[in-house]
Amino acid sequence: MALLQIAEPGMSAAPHQHRLAVGIDLGTTNSLVATVKSGSAACIADEQGRVTLPSVVRYCEEARTETGYDALKAQKIDPLNTISSAKRLIGRTLADLKQDSHYLPYRFGSNERIIEMQTRQGAKTPIDVSAEILRALKTRAENALGGELTGAVITVPAYFDDAQRQATKDAARLAGLNVLRLLNEPTAAAIAYGLDNASEGTFVVYDLGGGTFDVSVLQLSKGLFEVKATGGNSALGGDDFDHRLFCHLLEQNKLSQLNEQDSQLLLSLARAAKEALTTDNSTTIQAALSDGRKVDSTITRQEFQNLTQHLVAKTIEPVKQALKDAGVTKAAIKGVIMVGGATRMPHVQQAVATYFGQTPLNNLNPDEVVALGAAMQANVLAGNKNDGEWLLLDVTPLSLGLETYGGLVEKIIPRNSTLPTARAQEFTTFKDGQTAMTIHVVQGERELVADCRSLAKFTLRGIPPMVAGAARIRVTFQVDADGLLSVSAREQSTGVQAQIEVKPSYGLDDETITRMLKESMANASDDMAARARAEAVVEAEGLTAAVKAALELDGDLLDENGLHAVQTAVAELENQMQTGSAEAIRAAVSALGHATDDFAAKRMNRNIQRALAGKNVEEL
Ligand code: ADP
Ligand code: MG
Repeated sequence: MALLQIAEPGMSAAPHQHRLAVGIDLGTTNSLVATVKSGSAACIADEQGRVTLPSVVRYCEEARTETGYDALKAQKIDPLNTISSAKRLIGRTLADLKQDSHYLPYRFGSNERIIEMQTRQGAKTPIDVSAEILRALKTRAENALGGELTGAVITVPAYFDDAQRQATKDAARLAGLNVLRLLNEPTAAAIAYGLDNASEGTFVVYDLGGGTFDVSVLQLSKGLFEVKATGGNSALGGDDFDHRLFCHLLEQNKLSQLNEQDSQLLLSLARAAKEALTTDNSTTIQAALSDGRKVDSTITRQEFQNLTQHLVAKTIEPVKQALKDAGVTKAAIKGVIMVGGATRMPHVQQAVATYFGQTPLNNLNPDEVVALGAAMQANVLAGNKNDGEWLLLDVTPLSLGLETYGGLVEKIIPRNSTLPTARAQEFTTFKDGQTAMTIHVVQGERELVADCRSLAKFTLRGIPPMVAGAARIRVTFQVDADGLLSVSAREQSTGVQAQIEVKPSYGLDDETITRMLKESMANASDDMAARARAEAVVEAEGLTAAVKAALELDGDLLDENGLHAVQTAVAELENQMQTGSAEAIRAAVSALGHATDDFAAKRMNRNIQRALAGKNVEEL
């Protein structure tokens, strides 16, 4: 559906030219980069053939940095200069972290607006750290693909707020990456599974990573994604399974008081054992500690599962909550997508299957799926896929506007505006002494409210009574990156305001949008006529109201004939307002104008006399 094809400004590609675009999963524990080559998405490996890059950066001597595995290895010997989990800190302040910052090994600066960590290379922010990770992935991709990248789609958790999203974009800019778009991680996973081509349905994305558990409920309707609810536990992930096994090894080998080096060794062996038990039925952990003591344990998958079953169980509570928040029952879930390396563990798979009563979608690598979906999206945005039926919430698919007097639509945000976007416009009151104004928010391309889709209505009250046209009401439309529209109205002199939030795309599928667009084109000339007529009616209403008010006050100035002439002209205009064309109404307006010329002159005289009464010439 070409109409809805999304191309970023200045990025539409020549038909046969393939642009290099990547998807990046910027993870808390691991980050990945993927691209679409000959139609299928794949992760790009480093020179050692590893696709994941640990999200760790070490600031070394002589302005050198290490990123990934090297930095991870050095973390224990150089903790103050080696930063991990920057994603937990990005776009946040020390105040946001509260006492949590005490648990982190860094030397935090005192900057209140942005988190800073003192390293031997000076203060580094989570943005700097993330930029290093992105730079490493960019270099990896450019080496593998043999050219400069056109752009990247970077994924973020669905719950990231504006500050966290903006900070992620800033990191990309620092790394020299052109961000085609930020994409929600669960949405990326759904794209990787091709669910955007599925008909309709509600899906759950269960993401158990290294240190975090995120669950999202996604509603898909013909290629359109909406995150209905998110939940999770920011302090639960694969690391906790490592730690549990580590504690078990200490008990089993009657070890207490390990030095830092030994406990690191044992912890990394525990992690390796955990990962091995995903495929093997048992594994052996052997190590020689620095004081000569030995660790020698064999652990079966069953034992490991018994040790960690409570951690698996802990993930189900947030799942229940998210379903509740989304207002859906688990029976209504069409599919469950497994994301995150830790979901490889068979007892995690089992628990999810049991809870939902269905086998989760797990045929893609759970640690790659987010990057793969992002790559597919990047491919479309870079203009490499022209036949796609992609509809994304990142542009406004239809214009957004409000109802003005006479049932007309005033468009505020035009169709295809790139999100986020905001626009404001001033309106005024139509009637004298009007103290309230109803804001009716509509969506569509047509000129008349009746032909558009009504989204919401709210009323601004407390407008000070003024003559018609004197009040200044500023109406602001704002659509955020998630497609959430908020409309606010503010009376400028008193500052009274009212607002409302709506999801404009909710429930709109491609077909409805196409139909609405086609109708607007087909009806363009009729709509113009209807608009002209409605505008004439508005003008006529103003005039008849003014003439009637004047007759009430000063009708005695007219003789019977004069009065009759004015009344006849009013009646004729009212008649034309009901049934006449725009031209007929305008003609009747002008006839009424002529019919009242004499009356207007008489009123003017009377008003001057009233004003002069009791005043002497000197005062004037
Ligand atoms: P994040 O999204 O937090 O960056 P990942 O999705 O990369 O994290 O998940 C990392 C976690 O997945 C780690 O705890 C790691 O040990 C775990 N993991 C990776 N492979 C396996 C496996 N084969 N079996 C069990 N856990 C695994
Ligand atoms: Mg992840």
